[in-house]
Amino acid sequence: MMIAPIPSWPREDDGRAPDCEVEGAADAMVPTEGVRGRILRGAPLAPLVWFKAGGAADWLFEPADLADLEHFLEALEGKLPVMALGLGSNLIVRDGGVPGVVIRLGKPFAKVEVREGNVLACGAGAHGILVASSARDAGIAGLEFLRGIPGTVGGFVRMNGGAYGREVADILVDCDVVLPDGEFATLPASELQYSYRHSELPEGAVVVAARFRGTPGDPRAIGAEMDRIARAREDSQPLRTKTGGSTFKNPPGKKAWELIDQAGCRGLKLGAAQVSEKHANFLINTGDAISADIEGLGELVREKVYARSGVGLEWEIQRVGRV
Ligand SMILES: Cc1cc2nc3c(=O)[nH]c(=O)nc-3n(C[C@H](O)[C@H](O)[C@H](O)COP(=O)(O)OP(=O)(O)OC[C@H]3O[C@@H](n4cnc5c(N)ncnc54)[C@H](O)[C@@H]3O)c2cc1C
Repeated sequence: MMIAPIPSWPREDDGRAPDCEVEGAADAMVPTEGVRGRILRGAPLAPLVWFKAGGAADWLFEPADLADLEHFLEALEGKLPVMALGLGSNLIVRDGGVPGVVIRLGKPFAKVEVREGNVLACGAGAHGILVASSARDAGIAGLEFLRGIPGTVGGFVRMNGGAYGREVADILVDCDVVLPDGEFATLPASELQYSYRHSELPEGAVVVAARFRGTPGDPRAIGAEMDRIARAREDSQPLRTKTGGSTFKNPPGKKAWELIDQAGCRGLKLGAAQVSEKHANFLINTGDAISADIEGLGELVREKVYARSGVGLEWEIQRVGRV
């Protein structure tokens, strides 16, 4: 089902991702000499993302360590687009797959270390729950909200992940990135120009580590807050489903889920994609939905919300790849 764009919508930033079409990218080769990590051609991405839908990456690279990633990108010479993948918890991978190289940071990038001054140094592949638990154990408060966000540090830094009134912008000191030409850089938080669920991370930059700062706290109180967050999530979100988290950003002064509800979209279906009955700002794959169903349903919701309330919802979920 094709959803026609509505011409009167604001076009400056409607959240539409580019479809990343790159001529010939699927046939292009990548440098493998001296590479120690795992490189796969035509790697299915559906198993690696929460929606469990979408096409394959032309190439999937899992670097052995930082030097391996730098070497690979330097040898690639920026000839193909590069995209980092975390846990795919905020991502629709389109059915035609992702052109170029998808970079997935695994265990070598998942360490969390305590530093002086209530700082945690985290590898970009570390999961939110590990970061929050490590902060608790070290008596560092202020990072509890990461307990409930099912992504990696790289995804949090890129998306300015947040919950319960806190966001990454409040705790990030700086982050290390590898740029698409293989150059290493440390970016202070101020350079990311954070706004709601958005950063100005350079295009194609792969976050490899980040430092978060909290305040001194009592591990028992921190643990109790983390438990409260876990319970609240369980009650309000479809956690054990194939989903992508909040689909749309909350418009200023409004709740996306309320606007979606008012437009009568709770439970709405397109193919095997459905607006969650539990949380109207979540889309779910009820079985074997393809990404076109999921994205198409999102567009249908935007259309209905606009018709009902005049608000043009902006996608929070990142949509990548070829249609
Ligand atoms: C049940 C559920 C609940 C959720 N609740 C919340 C919530 O409360 N608050 C919230 O903010 N989000 C929430 N999310 C969304 C999601 O967890 C966050 O956006 C998270 O930050 C995404 O992390 P990820 O590692 O899975 O990134 P992915 O989904 O894999 O990628 C998201 C974006 O980040 C980029 N990215 C990932 N890793 C890197 C890296 N190393 N370097 C550079 N860019 C990178 C990707 O290229 C992509 O553009 C929820 C999702 C689910 C499924």
